[in-house]
Amino acid sequence: MPSEAKAAETYVEKPRTLAELRADLISGRTKATDLASSYYERIEKKNPRLNVYLSLTKERALKQAERVDALAAKGDPLPALAGVPVGIKDVLVMQGAPATAGSKILQGYRPPYDATAVAKLDAAGAVLLGKLNCDEFAMGSSTENSAYGPVRNPVDTERVPGGSSGGSAAAVAANLAVATLGSDTGGSIRQPASFCGVVGVLPTYGRVSRYGLIAFASSLDRVGPFAANVRDAATLLGVIAGHDAKDATSSAAPVPDYAAESDKPLKEPGKAGLRLGVPAEYFAEGLDDEVRAAIEGGIAALKAAGCTVKPVSLPHTKYAIPTYYLVATAEASANLARFDGVRYGYRSAESEILSSLYRHSRDEGFGAEVKRRILLGTYALSAGYYDAYYLKAQQVRRLLAEEYLRAFAEVDAIVTPTSPMPAFKLGEKTGDPLAMYLADIYTVTASLAGICGVTVPCGTTQAGLPVGMQVLAAHLHEGTAFRVARAVESAHL
Ligand code: GLN
Repeated sequence: MPSEAKAAETYVEKPRTLAELRADLISGRTKATDLASSYYERIEKKNPRLNVYLSLTKERALKQAERVDALAAKGDPLPALAGVPVGIKDVLVMQGAPATAGSKILQGYRPPYDATAVAKLDAAGAVLLGKLNCDEFAMGSSTENSAYGPVRNPVDTERVPGGSSGGSAAAVAANLAVATLGSDTGGSIRQPASFCGVVGVLPTYGRVSRYGLIAFASSLDRVGPFAANVRDAATLLGVIAGHDAKDATSSAAPVPDYAAESDKPLKEPGKAGLRLGVPAEYFAEGLDDEVRAAIEGGIAALKAAGCTVKPVSLPHTKYAIPTYYLVATAEASANLARFDGVRYGYRSAESEILSSLYRHSRDEGFGAEVKRRILLGTYALSAGYYDAYYLKAQQVRRLLAEEYLRAFAEVDAIVTPTSPMPAFKLGEKTGDPLAMYLADIYTVTASLAGICGVTVPCGTTQAGLPVGMQVLAAHLHEGTAFRVARAVESAHL
């Protein structure tokens, strides 16, 4: 253990904060072009071991950095993310850059447009470094399902970074980007952020446009940021959130100043402190003792900072995993039908005849986990089984959502562990898909309910593995979640 931990140490590095970078750019102490080059140098050194980046977009990044330098030289006002080096999960499209979604079936595909979240980062002056590794079509909890090899956790390179946005979390933990974008369908931002010791945000469903996100399960998919601290994550969300005419499910609600929200204390003068709920169902059997102790320490710190804490009940939590894996696979089976060997990417050399080209391309192009889910989802949707599985799952989904709404009538935020265990070893769960699915127990309910949340580092285990606290809030109450997360961060647990 000690030698492993020592060897891994060199991979963990904290990026500078957005405020520091901004001050340095404005004063001329740092140039955006030098900053971008220094990130590419580090990527060259560390990426061979970590396997975080699948492709780099140097030309675009350097052009943007030059634009920022020109603005700074003239003394013009800099946009919110001017010069900030950012990485993008490979399920989000960038014009002209490869977009594999971690799958062989999209090999060679270069989309002709930017995802809305990417375009917004670009307009805010961010320097987009490249595309980040992930589980194939965002299906997984360890980034071991990528067709391009697993990502290693910078904290301990023998361990997984979590998934499916493992590349996005590891990139921030190793300072191979100041911030990144990921996607979360059932935990894919929150769980890897917790495994790598960084901050991850699950925005309310519809808060960030899904336009240009390669679909996994459309009623669950969200785009969200990773950063090394809560305030920076809040700033990024403020940039990418908002209504988008290209996504009919995007919310028209105004976008608050999330960074300012995160600055607010838990107890404002003359007002009652925030009310926190702790659900017993999230501290039951199966929770690692060290994770439990770390989260309890976090809750004690929140109390000390002025919160009131009370138990809340979420009794349907036990049905969350089967419900999620029915809804998500059903939607995936429909969404993935478009990968036919004709329209995008990989085409089998086995056949020229359209009907068998489809079969061969999908057989060769998809990995085992994706095929398993297409089968499961097709089964759940088939005549004769639809009522028993898909319809039932939708009904339970509604119950889960109502349960949260009832709880949020009494408390402002709910705190739980993000994952029942810290980062596990590479290969530890690959032979047992069910064990892998069960690792999502604390994240899938918020996905099904459409509510928002933030995961924030909350102490470490004795072996030095990060533990994440999940802070959940009602629809469109991201500001509250940031505020609570900020207090956990300030407690230096
Ligand atoms: N681990 C979950 C799954 O495999 C969640 C993935 C995600 O959020 N994209 O489906």
